[in-house]
Amino acid sequence: MPLSRVTRPVPYLAVALGLALAATGRARARPGVSADIVDTAQGGGRVLSLTFDDGPNPADTLRLLGVLRRHRITAVFCLWGEHVDAHPAVVRRIAADGHALGNHGMRHDDMSSWPPERIAADLRETNEAIRRAVPHARIRYFRAPYGAWGRTAAVAAALGMRPLGWRLAVGDWEPPGADELVRRLRDGVTPGAVVLLHDGGGDRGQTVDAVDRVATALKAERWRFTLPQRRS
Ligand SMILES: [Zn+2]
Repeated sequence: MPLSRVTRPVPYLAVALGLALAATGRARARPGVSADIVDTAQGGGRVLSLTFDDGPNPADTLRLLGVLRRHRITAVFCLWGEHVDAHPAVVRRIAADGHALGNHGMRHDDMSSWPPERIAADLRETNEAIRRAVPHARIRYFRAPYGAWGRTAAVAAALGMRPLGWRLAVGDWEPPGADELVRRLRDGVTPGAVVLLHDGGGDRGQTVDAVDRVATALKAERWRFTLPQRRS
């Protein structure tokens, strides 16, 4: 089933969450952000969104930032809270380069069975870690660890973050070699696709190499790199 279809608007959940958020007095629902899991890039025609999970991861993330800067690509970084606390300076570099920030949970837990209040606490803790690194940072997206959404999409939207899915994953966590990653990316891209990649969680040198090569090829074919949609 496409991820974009896996949404379950549950009124009682919204009410319960609203009460939970109101009780804390620190956040309220922001109706401008859709709780639908987005897997589509902004704009029409040959557009793509590159999204990178599980960082920051100093060596690979910094090299990736150089690659993206050279190709003038703006991407999304879905940050793992513990890694943010370990490497705040790398998060500052990501933000300074103009990339969009996403929340990927504090400890990369599978939250699919968690109640909304527990999810909200984790997502807030992650945002606080990001804002310790980058005061006043805008945190525009949330991606559930393992794509295990449970009730996280509704909670994220209530906290102002668009749930972010993907249309193409290329198994860069295996890792299968840069040549194979390039082949999977070239074969798999479709207009409007959000692409899932990783700059953290292990040695991601192959991912960085593949992005560099694919960006050159796709730009020559007039593909554009945009951010994922925020509103439905
Ligand atoms: Zn992850």
